[in-house]
Amino acid sequence: MTIAVRTFSQLNEAASAIASDRDAAFFGGGTLIMRGINEGHAHISAIVRTTDAEFRAIRTAGSNFEIGAGATMSDVLANRELSFLHEAARAVGGPAIRNMATVGGNLFARSPYGDFTAALLALDARVAAAGSSGGRETPLADLLRDRERNGHGVISHVSVPRPAGGAEMRFVKVSRVKPKGVSVITIAAYLPLSGSRVQGARIAYGAMAPTPVRVAAVEQALEGKTLDASGVAQALAVATDGTSPASDPIASEWYRREVAPVHLKRLLLGQPA
Ligand SMILES: Cc1cc2nc3c(=O)[nH]c(=O)nc-3n(C[C@H](O)[C@H](O)[C@H](O)COP(=O)(O)OP(=O)(O)OC[C@H]3O[C@@H](n4cnc5c(N)ncnc54)[C@H](O)[C@@H]3O)c2cc1C
Repeated sequence: MTIAVRTFSQLNEAASAIASDRDAAFFGGGTLIMRGINEGHAHISAIVRTTDAEFRAIRTAGSNFEIGAGATMSDVLANRELSFLHEAARAVGGPAIRNMATVGGNLFARSPYGDFTAALLALDARVAAAGSSGGRETPLADLLRDRERNGHGVISHVSVPRPAGGAEMRFVKVSRVKPKGVSVITIAAYLPLSGSRVQGARIAYGAMAPTPVRVAAVEQALEGKTLDASGVAQALAVATDGTSPASDPIASEWYRREVAPVHLKRLLLGQPA
């Protein structure tokens, strides 16, 4: 089967090309698309890509960072201001993958992939689609909820609020093969503290549902609590509430549920993974 490669200098042209051809696929870094094509799983007539420099740019916009969806994990790692996202970017594959894997592509990676997206979710990131009026942003959680349906278009950038002073971003990816293994569970925790008490925590898991998810039960259980053994006890008791982990070659559903509280506890108490 022949697959056409269509390259556009402007992101909006690429988005229009995708919108007008339902058999075409947008190409970020290609780490998943090319694997699908090479293995005969991707039935597409055309790959659509863009060389638009804006698509890969990372800039500050007021109290937010705007990360172009075409920025790679290596681009994120090269940006010192995004140090709160470095651990998550470093969790994606090995160096060769990180040089190609884009932020936009990670939003669509099927579980157990999506490590970087779990961190974005904990940071309450928003996304914008190319061509949307005025670059209108919608919550990342909405995109993830609806992503299997058609119509999300090409994502142009991700908007990430700058972490508040006194808030900590913590991240752990648990895998059986180090350092490049696939996730058993990924946990991202955004922990604003008022004095020593948690106020407005956001906790997201990767590999615990078909997409990365926020864990509302854990967030509620942490509210007003201190990050010590007794303070986190209730959060650990509800660690897997609302999740639906898969059984796959990496781990069974049972195993993921068993180890989730163990790793959540270590992360919240600041213990080594
Ligand atoms: C060896 C290997 C190891 C890997 N390890 C990890 C890992 O540890 N953690 C992890 O999370 N992932 C991992 N991955 C998966 C993948 O590399 C990453 O998830 C990566 O971020 C995907 O981005 P991409 O740009 O390569 O996506 P692509 O392959 O270009 O695209 C993937 C999907 O996203 C869509 N897409 C891409 N960009 C956009 C956009 N801007 N708007 C709308 N749709 C878009 C594409 O149409 C396609 O459906 C690994 C992959 C390989 C091959």
